Amino acid sequence: MDDKQLGQLSKALGVGGKAQEHKKRELPAPDGDFFGLLDTVTDEQRGVALQVREFMHAEVAPIMNEYWNRDEFPRQMIDAMRPLDLLRKVWNEDGTRKADATVMEGLITLEACKVDVSTAVFFGVHAGLAFASVALGGSAEQKAEWLPKMLDLKAIGAFGLTEPEGGSQVSQGMRTTCRRDGDAWVLSGQKKWIGNSTFSDFTVIWARDEDSNEVRGFIVRAGTPGYNVDKIQGKTALRIVENGLITLTDCRVPDADRLQEVKGWRTTADVLRLTRAGVAWQGVGCAMGAYELAVKYSQDRRQFGKRIGEFQLIQNHLVHMLGNVTSMFTMCLRLSYMADHDLMQDEHAALSKVFTAARCRETVAAAREVFGGNGILLENGVAKHFADAEAIYSYEGTNEINTLVVGRAVTGLSAFV
Ligand SMILES: Cc1cc2nc3c(=O)[nH]c(=O)nc-3n(C[C@H](O)[C@H](O)[C@H](O)COP(=O)(O)OP(=O)(O)OC[C@H]3O[C@@H](n4cnc5c(N)ncnc54)[C@H](O)[C@@H]3O)c2cc1C
Repeated sequence: MDDKQLGQLSKALGVGGKAQEHKKRELPAPDGDFFGLLDTVTDEQRGVALQVREFMHAEVAPIMNEYWNRDEFPRQMIDAMRPLDLLRKVWNEDGTRKADATVMEGLITLEACKVDVSTAVFFGVHAGLAFASVALGGSAEQKAEWLPKMLDLKAIGAFGLTEPEGGSQVSQGMRTTCRRDGDAWVLSGQKKWIGNSTFSDFTVIWARDEDSNEVRGFIVRAGTPGYNVDKIQGKTALRIVENGLITLTDCRVPDADRLQEVKGWRTTADVLRLTRAGVAWQGVGCAMGAYELAVKYSQDRRQFGKRIGEFQLIQNHLVHMLGNVTSMFTMCLRLSYMADHDLMQDEHAALSKVFTAARCRETVAAAREVFGGNGILLENGVAKHFADAEAIYSYEGTNEINTLVVGRAVTGLSAFV
């Protein structure tokens, strides 16, 4: 008797139905790490990734939609995150980086973004852009004052580079100025989009010296007279991140708070180089989170008497998404390895940012499509990924600018105008 006949006999006798039904329900758990890349990293790296995964599900997932609707960052998350001691997985006490800092940072970002990209952005701005500015540009005294507090999440930093009139071109046309006046500097201008700045203890402000034209960096402490932060309202992406419009009106900052080791724009670029891989990882996490939600939904949602995962066109979406996620994850793991082994050039980070941001956008759109109308409801998760992908696409170097960086590297010809 073959399987089919056995099935028919069981059905006729009314036996085995439950077992078969049970077998049917045992569907694979959604898993975006299809090639088991997490098995290729060190035990410590995997351990940290899993800790972040647990933290995101326990502490962030239950409150993220409420805070998304409130357009607000949950300040209590800082205290909840402290026991993970994540910054010390990336940085040493003296501001040098751990040997595997970029891989570690990437995995932290991946796991955070699978649940909520905004949480990863809070971390990336503080532990990446702000921390690196002090670590690379600060004197020994400045590092001693700020880094321990930053490692402990007792002092939160922000990074003020972009201006209302200058995003992509900020290196060439910085309008915020600084002028030496006795033992202080006078800062004037505006900075736009500055993440964490509405509640940070300080913001690193980059400004052009009116006399020498050189770019300088300053630690501007919250509450300094002449330093005003307005929260940017009405964002349709990353609503849990608080972005500020900073206005500096004859803001006096003591020379002691000028980052003493900044060597002009070169230091700013070094900071951005350190953090660009992290943004590429945001795309991987955002896409992977959306993919896993879509697989689960396709296993649960029924139409025409079947799970929608049984439809070929839905499987086509899922497989396309999985291909994207797998290639993005592989690329970023290699990129981070190259960064940690001093092999990464700007164009490697730029290609990874261009590729992952575009594939992320494509993946979250397909995931949203799998959800049908339910895909635009916040409660189903995928809508937040869909929206957040738009911010990933544009910051830390737009698609166009990073494309020009890669294009110049591969042709030897600059197409920048
Ligand atoms: C949610 C969010 C958070 C952010 N957080 C921070 C932060 O914490 N700190 C900070 O300093 N900045 C931050 N930014 C700013 C971000 O880095 C800039 O938005 C980004 O650099 C792009 O600048 P822009 O928005 O002014 O666009 P623009 O530079 O005005 O570009 C507009 C369009 O023109 C294209 N373009 C410009 N120049 C060229 C060219 N030469 N050739 C071809 N195309 C070109 C761009 O690619 C883009 O498509 C954030 C932005 C967002 C959206």
